[in-house]
Amino acid sequence: MWCSRLLRACSAPAPCSLLRPHSALAHMTRILEGELESIRGAGTWKSERVITSPQGPHIHVEGSRGGILNFCANNYLGLSSHPEVIRSGHEALEKFGAGLSSVRFICGTQSIHKSLEEKISHFHQREDAILYASCFDANAGIFEALLTPEDAVLSDELNHASIIDGIRLCKANKYRYKHMDMQDLEAKLQDAQKHRLRLIATDGAFSMDGDIAPLKEICQLAQKYQALVFIDECHATGFLGPSGRGTDELLGVMDQVTIVNSTLGKALGGAAGGYTTGPKALIDLLRQRSRPYLFSNSLPPAVVGCASKALDLLMESNAIAQSVAAKTKRFRSKMAAAGFTISGQDHPICPVMLGDARLASVMADDMLERGIYVIGFSFPVVPKGKARIRVQISAVHSEDDIDRCVDAFTEVGHKHRALP
Ligand code: PLP
Repeated sequence: MWCSRLLRACSAPAPCSLLRPHSALAHMTRILEGELESIRGAGTWKSERVITSPQGPHIHVEGSRGGILNFCANNYLGLSSHPEVIRSGHEALEKFGAGLSSVRFICGTQSIHKSLEEKISHFHQREDAILYASCFDANAGIFEALLTPEDAVLSDELNHASIIDGIRLCKANKYRYKHMDMQDLEAKLQDAQKHRLRLIATDGAFSMDGDIAPLKEICQLAQKYQALVFIDECHATGFLGPSGRGTDELLGVMDQVTIVNSTLGKALGGAAGGYTTGPKALIDLLRQRSRPYLFSNSLPPAVVGCASKALDLLMESNAIAQSVAAKTKRFRSKMAAAGFTISGQDHPICPVMLGDARLASVMADDMLERGIYVIGFSFPVVPKGKARIRVQISAVHSEDDIDRCVDAFTEVGHKHRALP
C-alpha cells in the first residue's frame, strides 16, 4: 500500500519547481557568490590546511613534503596526542560506548560525566561544575540563564566571540568597557549601580594579543561596587599559574572570581567540550535553564575519558605547566633579541607584530616553505594596521624546535624587510 502510493507519486507530473532551475535557490546563490567574492577581494579569505597526522609539535600537512613544525595549535601542554590520554579515551569508548544518543537530563548522564564534573570543580577549587559540548556552548548558555532585565553585564570590548554571542542572547543591561581599561570599567560600574546584579565578564587571557586581564584590579572594583566576576579561561586553564589552575591562580584571586568557563578542547587533551565551574546554586540553575545544556547531546565517552586523564596528569605534577612557561620565555626573548615585537605578557600566545596584512600573509607562507606552520591574522580578526603572525608555544616543543622557528623568522623577516 505504501509502495503503490510511492509509485503513483513517482509517475505524477513533477512540480514545475523541479523542471526549472529553482529561482529562489539561484537568487540565494547569486547573493552568496557576491559575498564570497567580497571576502576574497578584502584579502580575508580563510583557507584550511589539511593535516594528515595526529595533532602535535611535528605534523604532516597535505601538499607539503616531510614533517612540519607546528606553532599554531592550542595544544599548550602537548596532551592532544599523549599516550595516556589516548589510552584513557580508548578505555572509555570500550566501556561506555560511542555516545549517549541523548541530552544529559533524559538519559545522557553516565558515571564518567559526574566524575569529570567533580574533578573539574576540585581542580578549580569551586563548589560544582557542569559540562557542555564546547566552551562556546558554555558561554552561550550562562548569561541568559543567570541574568534578567533587572541585571547588568559589563564586558571587555575584546572578549571572545562566544562571550559576545552569549551576552547578546540575554536580556540584561549591557555595558562594554574599553579593553582592560579600569577607569572605564569603574565608570560603567557606577552607572550600573541601579541594577539588581552586576556581572563583569572577561577573558582571562586574550587569544589574539596574549595579554592577561588585570584580575586583581577587576576584583577590587567588583568588591567596591558589589559585582560578580566571570572569566573565560580557555587560554589559561592547565598552564597559567604555579599549578596551572589559570589566570585567577596566577594573579592570586581564586577566591574572588565567582565563575570560570573553560574548554577541554585546548590544553586539556584538545578533543572537545567545555564547562562552567562556580557556586553550586548557579550550577544547579544551569542544569535547569541553560539551553545548550538542555537541548544538545552529552559529551561522548571517549572525549570524557581523554579530558579526565589530562586533568589527572595535571593534578599529579605541575612539571608540564612549568615547562611551557620556560619555553615561552626562550621564544619571546630570542625573538625580541632578533628585533621583532612580540605582543602580550609571558603567555605562550606570542603574536609577532608586523602591521601590514600582506606582509603577515607572505611571511607565514614563507615560513611554511621552511617547514614551520604559523598563521597570519589580519583585519577583521584583528584591528586594521595590526596584522601579525600568531605563534603558540607548547610544552612538547623542544628547545631545538624553538630555535629553528626563531632562525626561520629571522631569515624571512630580513627577506621581507620586516627587520632593521
Ligand atoms: N572562549 C575562548 C576565549 C576561545 O578562544 C574559544 C575557542 O576558540 C572558545 C571560548 C570556544 O571554545 P570551544 O572550542 O570549547 O568551543
